[in-house]
Formats: sequence, structure tokens, C-alpha cells
Amino acid sequence: MSLRRLAATLLVAAVAAPAFAADEVVVYSERKEPLIQPIFAEYEKLTGTKVRYFNDAAPVLIERLAAEGANTQADLFMAVDAGSLWQAAERGVLAKVDSEALSKNVPANLRDPGGTWFGLSQRARTIVRSTERVNPDALSTYAGLAGPEWKGKLCLRSAKKVYNQSLVATMIARDGEAKTEQVVKGWVANLAAPPFADDTLLAQAIAAGQCDVGIINTYYLARLEHDDANFPVAPFWPDQVGSGVHVNISGAGVTTHAKHRDAAVKLLEWLSSPEAQAKFANVNLEYPVHPDVKPDQLVANWGEFKADPVNVVEAGRRQAEAVKLMDRAGWQ
Ligand code: FE
Repeated sequence: MSLRRLAATLLVAAVAAPAFAADEVVVYSERKEPLIQPIFAEYEKLTGTKVRYFNDAAPVLIERLAAEGANTQADLFMAVDAGSLWQAAERGVLAKVDSEALSKNVPANLRDPGGTWFGLSQRARTIVRSTERVNPDALSTYAGLAGPEWKGKLCLRSAKKVYNQSLVATMIARDGEAKTEQVVKGWVANLAAPPFADDTLLAQAIAAGQCDVGIINTYYLARLEHDDANFPVAPFWPDQVGSGVHVNISGAGVTTHAKHRDAAVKLLEWLSSPEAQAKFANVNLEYPVHPDVKPDQLVANWGEFKADPVNVVEAGRRQAEAVKLMDRAGWQ
């Protein structure tokens, strides 16, 4: 080998090695491992950027980010509810990102107006009904579930779950506190059973005949249908002549003290791209945020619906109010 070629080879090695090692993104993720591992593995394969992640509940991760401050190793924070992403932004652990790709790929109502977090999948929290005991004609709106005809027939998940807090928060944003409280009190009066610990148990209670209707995120139903095509529970899209179906997001934001900020932005942009969107949303049977990407066939079979266009940031802004309202209404 000539000296010149040797020098060139060494130069390439010297440049390539540190650049490769520096391409790493560390993620604090509330989104569970089976749902992100295949996505991050694909990104690693595609780009050579190593993605390391740590799983925990959002409140735990936000506290950890706040406590670690400038010493944190996390570049990206990922959560499964806009209320949690809003909390993180409020605590100052997320940094503003200006990205043409993210602005283009993520609809404006599914990201922080302040640019600190971005929705990556949509989650519809809708009404579900027993296909054996409830005709869809009997249903219309979320508020309708407060009517006397549903006495002893409604099931709800715990008020402690942020999904329900976000639902009530957006109801307050749209209809005001007085009207929302009246509806929530009506729901509580109609409960067939104490609130459930999770949406799957709730759907199973409807299937078992314990209640006739409920409110859940659709991907829980999708999983049950995936395992049993004849599962006797179906989604109903409420408020289609009004405000639309309540949607929330899973999403992410770059941390304030990210050591690999550019790499984190790149990963975030890739996650919002059509190529990644189908996988990111479909691995959990959710809805993509990217308007051009279709959901999984099982999910698409439920038909299209009009979603509430309110910005999901309201889920955070009104969260404290929502929690107090639910408490006053006796929703446990
Ligand atoms: Fe969930």
C-alpha cells in the first residue's frame, strides 16, 4: 500500500469511527418496550444511530429529568398522553424544536403550539357498546351516556388514569365547567360497577354482560378483536354532527439538556415520516398522525370518523381543573 493510500485509509477510519460513536440517542420512554423496540431497531439498521431507551411511567421520568437537570443522559422524552407531554414542558425539561418536517408531518392540533412536543400516533377514546345488547341507533354523544336510559349500564375506567383526565379536560375546554360537571355526574350516576383499572378489563366486562356501554381507547379493543374476531364489543363514533371523537396522542419532545440534540431531532423527524408512521402507529393498532398514512386493516375496518379538532394541549392546560371536577362528581 502506498503511503498516500495508507494515509487516506487511516483518515477515513479516524473520521468514521468517532462520528459513528457520537451518533446515539438516549430516550426516556413511557411507551412500552414491545412498541418501541422494533421501531428503534429499524432506525439503527437504517442510519447506524444507536438508540438506547429507559422505560418508566411519565410522572417518574419527568421527575427524573427535572432532578438530573444538565446531567441527564436523556435526549428524547416519549409519553403516551398529551397531558403528560404538557406536564414535561411545564417542568422545563423539554426544548423547542423548529423543524419543517415535523410541522409538515404532524397536524397542528396534535403538537404543542410552543414547539416542545409532537404527536406521533393518535389514540381515539371513544364509546364502545355490546353488539348483543346495544343498537348503535341508541347512541349519539358522550354527553348522551349521562341520560337516565343508561342507568346501571355504563362502565368507566378509573379517574386516576390520565386518559380520562384528558378527556374531561378537553370537554371543559369546549363546553365549560358547569356543563361538563353535569355530564360527568350523570356518568357516575349511571355506573354499573366501580371504575376499572384498565380499558381491557372494561371491554371484557361489557363482553361478559356486566355493563352495556363504556369509554375506552380503541387499540385495547383492536387487540381483543385481533385475538377473537367475534369479540362482542364494537366502537361507536360519538358527536359526529358536533365536536367529533376525542383524540389524544402518544408523542415525544427533545429534552432541554440533550447531549445529542441534532440526532434526537433527526429521530423525531423520522418517526413522523410516512415510512415510520405506519409502523409506529400500527404496532399498537393506533391511528397514524400523518394524514397520508392509513391505519392497520383491522382498525380501518371500523370506518372513518370525525375527530375533535381541539388542540390536544388543552388536555394539559385543563388537567388540574379536570381532576377536581371528577373528584367533585364522585368519579373514583
Ligand atoms: Fe394505553
